Amino acid sequence: MSDHYQVLGLSRDASTEDVKKAYRRLARQLHPDVNPSAGERFKEVSAAYETLSNPDKRRTYDAGGGSGFGGAGAGPGAGFGFSDIFETFFGGATAQRGPVSRAQPGQDALIRLEVDLHEAVFGAQKELAIDTAVVCPTCEGSCAQPGTHPKTCDVCHGRGAIQRTARSLLGNVMTSSPCPTCGGFGTVIPHPCQECAAEGRVRERRTLTIKVPAGVDTGTRIQLAGQSEVGPGGGPAGDLYVEIVQRQHETLTRRGEDLHCSVALPFTAAALGTTVHLATLDGDRELEVAPGTQPSEVVTLRGLGATRLRSGGRGDLHVHVDVQVPTRLDDHQRDLLTQLARARGEDRPVGRVTAARDGVFGRLKDRFAGR
Ligand SMILES: [Zn+2]
Ligand SMILES: [Zn+2]
Repeated sequence: MSDHYQVLGLSRDASTEDVKKAYRRLARQLHPDVNPSAGERFKEVSAAYETLSNPDKRRTYDAGGGSGFGGAGAGPGAGFGFSDIFETFFGGATAQRGPVSRAQPGQDALIRLEVDLHEAVFGAQKELAIDTAVVCPTCEGSCAQPGTHPKTCDVCHGRGAIQRTARSLLGNVMTSSPCPTCGGFGTVIPHPCQECAAEGRVRERRTLTIKVPAGVDTGTRIQLAGQSEVGPGGGPAGDLYVEIVQRQHETLTRRGEDLHCSVALPFTAAALGTTVHLATLDGDRELEVAPGTQPSEVVTLRGLGATRLRSGGRGDLHVHVDVQVPTRLDDHQRDLLTQLARARGEDRPVGRVTAARDGVFGRLKDRFAGR
């Protein structure tokens, strides 16, 4: 193998800019589109450029003594190919196109599906009407009137592309662009299908039955392969994604796999203890409130929360006790309460000041976050 510096006509202290300039100059003379007989020289020049324009490879090459060694990444096939190098310099104009198929894949679609909490937790079957595209029943996707056929394009002779010789800084270069007559398909349709205006598909409203698995939540996506629109020319249908939106429940708020609700209790009931009838997703339950229950205490009912989508099983239902203090007392009630306060030694001003704890801020945040 010859010396990379010699190949490019450079001295060993040439800058990266010098390397680029030298390559550009030589590539203009030697590129196979311009000078088909210079293929070997062009490969040498490109290999030299690939090594010397990359500081790491150049260091390795220099350390190896240059000529004869070549460096690890200097040979053809190492790193990126010559055409890549060429395109970074001159832009890709050499790619060949064949005719494009009329049948193109259909687009994926995303629709939203509202479910209530019960359906989200236990799963459901839902009917959903979607506006989509199906294969044209008249032409069956061929785009041509029944009994007629597409015919080969006269302009591009079925190649879908037309070649042009363009002058560039390399000299004359062949470029290829989609045929304007057939739109790149290589065929034209003399008798287009009237039903679909030669699109091969028609709009249709379809009703789908969707199985919503137990445990879905707002944002969960269900993928239905091949249930979206059929592509142009009757191409394969795209996928339909159904994104779940869970409607708010009247009393139960969901946070992941757990549900929360709040029960308002008069302070007397909290002090004396009581039983509360609670409507859960699993039917009515009796909730035991122990005597001496404190404001914002949480009573947990295990396994009455939401279903875990992947692992199965259920979260918990947390009942937040909201102790209510009466705002209006009649004379008799005030007497009774005063007697109680006296009996408990609470009739003089009381109140023990302590540091505000994290819990307090947590509750404030909850109250103002709106959820
Ligand atoms: Zn049709
Ligand atoms: Zn054509």
